[in-house]
Amino acid sequence: MIAKIEAIPYCIDYAKPLRFASGFVDKADHVLVRVTTNNGLVGIADAPPRPYTYGETQESILAVINKIMAPQLIGTPVEQNARVHEVLKRTVGNNVAKAAIDIALWDIKAKTANTTLTAMLGGYTDRLQVAHMVGFADTRDVLEEVQDLTDRYGISAYKIKVGRRPIHDDIEVCRAIRREFGDEVVLYIDGNRGWNARESQYVLKALEDINLRFVEELNPASEGFGRRQIVQHTNIPFVVDESAPTPTAVWRALQDGDGSAVSIKTARTGITDSLRIWGLCSSGGVDIVLGNQIDTQVGSMATIAFGAAFYETSLLPAEVSNFLDMQDDLQAEPIEIVDGYAKISQRPGYGASIDPDKLEYYRLDK
Ligand SMILES: [Mg+2]
Repeated sequence: MIAKIEAIPYCIDYAKPLRFASGFVDKADHVLVRVTTNNGLVGIADAPPRPYTYGETQESILAVINKIMAPQLIGTPVEQNARVHEVLKRTVGNNVAKAAIDIALWDIKAKTANTTLTAMLGGYTDRLQVAHMVGFADTRDVLEEVQDLTDRYGISAYKIKVGRRPIHDDIEVCRAIRREFGDEVVLYIDGNRGWNARESQYVLKALEDINLRFVEELNPASEGFGRRQIVQHTNIPFVVDESAPTPTAVWRALQDGDGSAVSIKTARTGITDSLRIWGLCSSGGVDIVLGNQIDTQVGSMATIAFGAAFYETSLLPAEVSNFLDMQDDLQAEPIEIVDGYAKISQRPGYGASIDPDKLEYYRLDK
């Protein structure tokens, strides 16, 4: 049973800040969640606060775990997942805090079964193709970044953050990448709601000939009429991400025509709710993109383990490489990206392993 839940705030700087339409990230001011059972098993998860998306901060994650969730969960058997979620559901919002507790518990479940989380969930494959997320920058800097990632890691799928004004800056970046790196590269864009519906339609028209695999949250889903017009009139799958952060919201978004593809982020739906979204999408023939919540290696390991479990989540490149922009990481056994692919860990659990010296150095609660 759950004996202890620790929420440890820490901070690691980014070597290369990521800028996008709804904010920017220059440091990982995250919370490491560590659950210990009465027989000494430990489950780990990384909680990245994203105030501009979910309203959570490092402080709010600490408070909701320490004051509300942990006291209610101590003593609950780890295998009683439905009971755990009954408790978590009593608190509205706080997606990332809930997801971290869920991931840590699945880590323990897989360790108890002495198997990988991927094998426990579905065991489809042992690796995922990597898509790297590229933030706002001048065209020349973006091309240099893409060249570097191609040379060092063989990455050949890129999500470009767009949604700037003047919009021609973004159009130019996308066209330049296609021109320089050829037709083989998987290219897609994420507007983080930066444009309105008309601007989004203008960009889709302007980029018609560069074969975008997806477009994501170009305008706010709250522009109901405008959003549906875009989704209906483009043949490019339109990904819902921050406008559909829960299984219920995904169901509604698809029914309402707010999107035609879905981003799953384990950092916000953990394993349990990611499974529900996978079930919904795979049953209905909806493309799934594994999104990046600007995750550390610990967070990315959870995404890789989940994604590799199923055909539908391993079909398309997964956004699991943005930890490369960080100066350091708590993960003791680094993720290796070789020829554009990242492998699951073969250790029981999902592969999170914390370097104790680094945790000691970066934690903020000493
Ligand atoms: Mg997104």
